[in-house]
Amino acid sequence: MRTALADERILMKHGAGGRAMRRLIEDVMMAGLGDGLKPGDIGLRAMDDGAAIRVGDKWLVMTTDSHVVHPIFFPGGDIGRLAVSGTVNDLSMMGATEVLGLTCAVVLEEGFSRDNLIRVQMSMRDTALEAGAPIVTGDTKVMGRGELDGIILNTTGVAITDHIVTDAGLQPGDMLIVTGTIGDHGFAVMTARHNLALEGHLVSDVAPLNGMVRSVLMVAGRDVVAMKDPTRGGVSSAVHEMAAKARVTIVLDEPSIPVSDEARAASELLGIDPLNVANEGKAVIGVRPWAAKAVLAALHAHPLGQRAAIVGQCVDGGASVVLDTGVGRRLLVEPEGEPLPRIC
Ligand code: MG
Repeated sequence: MRTALADERILMKHGAGGRAMRRLIEDVMMAGLGDGLKPGDIGLRAMDDGAAIRVGDKWLVMTTDSHVVHPIFFPGGDIGRLAVSGTVNDLSMMGATEVLGLTCAVVLEEGFSRDNLIRVQMSMRDTALEAGAPIVTGDTKVMGRGELDGIILNTTGVAITDHIVTDAGLQPGDMLIVTGTIGDHGFAVMTARHNLALEGHLVSDVAPLNGMVRSVLMVAGRDVVAMKDPTRGGVSSAVHEMAAKARVTIVLDEPSIPVSDEARAASELLGIDPLNVANEGKAVIGVRPWAAKAVLAALHAHPLGQRAAIVGQCVDGGASVVLDTGVGRRLLVEPEGEPLPRIC
């Protein structure tokens, strides 16, 4: 069936992680794909962080991601660290923290600096080492000057796990934990791109999360019922997806959501809500209520989870997100997409 989209052009918002992107994927990208998957396997239609295929009594988890961030070097990271972390994190969000291997495909623009390529490559190597995730195969292509903007990096990852965590497992009563301050990556890239002078030093949180997630799963196991990394579209997009899939309402307690002073300043200067801004080193974790304290303690004991906080709880019905501001409650609207394109 031809949809209205057939006559439209693709816009930047279609890659920005919100409603517009999801509609494009549902209307065009998924059509006719994913058939033949065994019942119970998790494929495209689940629109989760990755796919999960049953192999014997274990799960093979796969995910892929292309990276087009601009600028390619930003405070706290670069496109290489982002490409490795993004894929390791999507595997981790499925409960697969032991990464078997990563691929690295690079498309370069004629004229791209060899020194910058070496910097990116070394950053990928260091991040892969940090995550214990070997890069095992790759591909290199070059296109003509002006045919792309410098570099595109694609990484695919595979892992095997005994137990899958989806982004759809929430039930009324479950608690929502955010593993640290939100919006740092998006605001750091925005300020780098526009040379904004801000107080303090805003740095991206980009990091591989598999070690931190492993420690959470070790203390809480199957009481961890849903995970998602709040990348494009930020925490708001992530919790909207989690609420919609589980058909629960998520009540977020705004004052408990951690925001760094630097991100807060950027948010006020730019008029952009940190809830809508990308993170590349954070997870939203849904846990059974009795496990929340133990998970929080495990996070606080990990270097990447120092500022983790319980930020909300699920209640019956609705499939919506409610923001409790401390003085009142309002519906949180799902962002159309990340406020700035090419954030990852
Ligand atoms: Mg993800």
